[in-house]
Amino acid sequence: MISKISENIYQLCFDAFGSTVYVLKLNKNILIDTSCKDNEQELVKDLKELGLKPEDIDFVLITHKHWDHDGNLSLFSNAKIITNENVDELPLEIKPILTPGHSRDSICFIYKDILFSGDTIFHNQGRGRTDLEGGSEIEIQESIKKLKQIKYNILCPGHV
Ligand SMILES: [Zn+2]
Repeated sequence: MISKISENIYQLCFDAFGSTVYVLKLNKNILIDTSCKDNEQELVKDLKELGLKPEDIDFVLITHKHWDHDGNLSLFSNAKIITNENVDELPLEIKPILTPGHSRDSICFIYKDILFSGDTIFHNQGRGRTDLEGGSEIEIQESIKKLKQIKYNILCPGHV
């Protein structure tokens, strides 16, 4: 299901389990997360509804490398893949915030007044679990503190 978040920004939610996907149609076409393999067909269909083919995507930003977020990376053959290791290659209008805790490589992204928070924080004060490999309670608390200092109006988490 496609919901419009803001001008040129869309949220894709799926019937089956898997992360949400965000589509930013800026001067480059940007995807944040790709959901899991089970949602591949629905993802391609939703992109088509937005006038995009997988090969039109220029950047895929991955909030962390869990299977329910990066399961469809291989679809995006023309995209530059951005993870916590290469944030300096992000398009200029998007700012990264390193937020370890849910996983070691967790990262959030800010575009204008929108925070894409992956599995670090959710709506209604929700926060990511820390009991998976690389998780850390101390680190997520630090990361949440960091996010509290950021001004944003719209929260776009990895699961809704
Ligand atoms: Zn996760």
